[in-house]
Amino acid sequence: MKRVLLSISLILGLLATSNAQESYTVKSPDGKISVVVSAQNGKPQYTVAYDGKTVIAPSALGVKTNIGDFTSGLKIDNSTAEIDIYNTYSLPNIKQSTVNDVAKSILIDFSKDGKNSFHVVFRVSNRDVAFRYILTDSKDTKVCVINGEASEFNLPDGTTTFLCPQAKPMGGFARTSPSYETPYTVDDATGKNGWGNGYTFPCLFKEPDNTWVLISETGTDGKYVGCRLLNIGGPKYQIGFPQEEELNGFGSTSVQMALPGRTPWRTITLGGLNNIVETTVAFDLPEKRYEPSQKYIYSKGSWSWIIGMDPSCNYDEQKRYIDFSAAMGYQSVLIDAFWDSAIGYDKIADLAKYGREKGVGLFLWYNSNGSWNDAPQTPIGKMNNSRIRRQEMKWMQDNGIRGIKVDFFGGDKQQMLQLYEDILSDANDFGLLVIFHGCTLPRGWEKMFPNYAASEAVLASENLHFGQGACDNEAFNACLHPFIRNTVGSMDFGGSALNKFYSADNKHGTVRRTSDVFALAVAVLFQSAVQHFALAPNNLTDAPAWAIDFMKKVPTTWDEVKFIDGYPGKYVILARRNGNKWFIVGINAQKETLKTTLTLPMFAAGSTVKQYSDDDQLNGSVKDVKVNKKQQVSITIPCNGGVVITQ
Ligand code: CA
Repeated sequence: MKRVLLSISLILGLLATSNAQESYTVKSPDGKISVVVSAQNGKPQYTVAYDGKTVIAPSALGVKTNIGDFTSGLKIDNSTAEIDIYNTYSLPNIKQSTVNDVAKSILIDFSKDGKNSFHVVFRVSNRDVAFRYILTDSKDTKVCVINGEASEFNLPDGTTTFLCPQAKPMGGFARTSPSYETPYTVDDATGKNGWGNGYTFPCLFKEPDNTWVLISETGTDGKYVGCRLLNIGGPKYQIGFPQEEELNGFGSTSVQMALPGRTPWRTITLGGLNNIVETTVAFDLPEKRYEPSQKYIYSKGSWSWIIGMDPSCNYDEQKRYIDFSAAMGYQSVLIDAFWDSAIGYDKIADLAKYGREKGVGLFLWYNSNGSWNDAPQTPIGKMNNSRIRRQEMKWMQDNGIRGIKVDFFGGDKQQMLQLYEDILSDANDFGLLVIFHGCTLPRGWEKMFPNYAASEAVLASENLHFGQGACDNEAFNACLHPFIRNTVGSMDFGGSALNKFYSADNKHGTVRRTSDVFALAVAVLFQSAVQHFALAPNNLTDAPAWAIDFMKKVPTTWDEVKFIDGYPGKYVILARRNGNKWFIVGINAQKETLKTTLTLPMFAAGSTVKQYSDDDQLNGSVKDVKVNKKQQVSITIPCNGGVVITQ
C-alpha cells in the first residue's frame, strides 16, 4: 500500500562535512512551493515561498532539551538524500477515502560542538509544508527531556487572523478547560495573543496577497504534548507547550523522550481556500499505531441528550430512541451521562439486546476522570485506570456495545495524551469505537488509531441548547468549521436539529434560527464518519417529509471533497462524493441573500438534479432542476438558510 521511492537526487550525505552547504532548498513536486533551510549565526531557520512570494518569512527552528540547546550554536553538517514520496493510502473515515500523497522530503543534519545529534525533516507537497525534529542517541545518552520548541511561523505584515483562543486552565464548567471550546475571532489583526494563552490549533491566516495559511500539528500521541500557537509580537507566532496549571496543576509541561526520538509534525497548508478545505496533510504524515481488531462500522445515529438533557437518560426514553433510530434506518444510539445510576448496567444490557434486534448499536458516555477536574457526571473512575477500564470494556464487548464517548479530559500534558492513546488501544482490544468530548484536537488520529471515531474540540451543538447566543451565531460558526477545525480531523458536532426549539416538547427553550435545509446541508458539511444527529422522534411527524427522507439517506463516509466557493464566517459551498453520488451543499451567514451560479462538472449537461432550497422566509422545499448546457445550476441562499443539490 505504501511506496517510498528514493530518487537519490542528492546524496549529499556522501560528501565530506567540510563541503556542507550554507542552506538547502526543497521544492514541492510542482515547483510552486519552495522551502529554504539554513543556519544564521548558529540558529537554524526556514523560509517558505509560494509562486516566488514569501509566505513564511525567516522563522526559527529547534528544540531546547536537557541534553543540549538545539536552538543555537548549530551548524549545518550535511544533508542526506532528498526523497520523493509516493504514498497511496485508504482511510474510510476521513474526507477522502483514497489519498495519493506526493511530496518531496529532505533531512538536514545539524551539529553542535562537533556532535551530530539533531536533524530537521522537511516534507513539501503541492499544498503543504511540514517539518519535524529527530533527536538521536549516543553511547551514554538514551533519553532526554524537551522543555520547549523554537519553532516559529513568521507571517508577512498585514496578515489577518481567523483564530480561537486557548482557554486558561482549570476554568469554565467544573474546572474542565482548556477543552478547545472557545469562540473564533475572524478577519482580525495579528499581534494579539488570544486571552493571553495563545491559540488552539488549527490556526487560519490570510496574507495580504490573499494566500491562505493553515498552521496545525499532527502525529501527536503519548510520546509528546499537545501544543498551541503563541503570538510573540506582530505577525510572529511560535509553538507553545501546555500550561503549568493544566491537569489540576499536576505533571510536567515538558516532554520525556526516549532516544532516538521524533517530534510530531508541524504543518503549514497554503494557497487558495480549496487547498485549506481539501488538504489531507493531517493524515498523510502519521503512521498507523496498531491494526484494527475488527472491521469498524461507521454509522449515523440519534442522541436524546441534546434535546432532552439529563432527564432523558432513562430506560423508556432510550428504548424510544432505539425505535427512532431503527425508523430512520440508523445504526446507533448514543446514551449520555448518568446511565449507570439512572438505567443501570443490567438494564443497559437489556437495551443493547433490544437494539441489536433492531440493528441499532449503543455508544455509552464515560467521564475520563480521574483527578483532573470537578466534572461530577458518572460513570466516573472507569477510564483512568487500565485494570478497571479493561474490565468495563470486557463487559461492553460481552454485551455488544458499539463504542464509547469519553468526556472531560484534563489538558494537553504528556500523561493526558498517553491516556487518550491508552483508551484507544484498549478499546480496540475489545472492538469498541471511541468518541472524545471535552477534549483536545485530534492530531492525525483517524490514521494512527483505527478505532478512533471523532472528537468534539469545538463549540458543539450542546451550546445551541445552552444559550440563545449560540443559536443566533450558528450559521457564522458553521461557516468556519470546514476551513478550520473540521479540515484537520473528524468533528463530533451532534447537530442537524429539525426541532424548532431545543426542548423535548419542542415548544420552549432556545430557538433555532437556521432553516431545515441548513440542517440538511450541515449533515454533509460537517465531516465525521460517526454522526449522532440532534434529531428527535417527534421529527418523524413534525418535520417536513423531504427533510426526514434526506436525513435517512445522507451518508457519513465520503470518497472525495471539492471546495466550490466561500469565505470563513460568511458562507461556504462544497461538494462531497459518496460512491457515484455527489452532494453539493451551501450555507450562508451573511445578512444579504447569496445569489450565485455554480459550475458543477460532476453533473452532466441537461441532467436533472434535486435541489433543496429556502425561500426568503426560510421555508424549505425540494424540486427537480435541470443542469444547463454549461453544467451550471443557479442557487439562492438567504441568511441562516441552506442549499443542497444531489442526484
Ligand atoms: Ca463539550
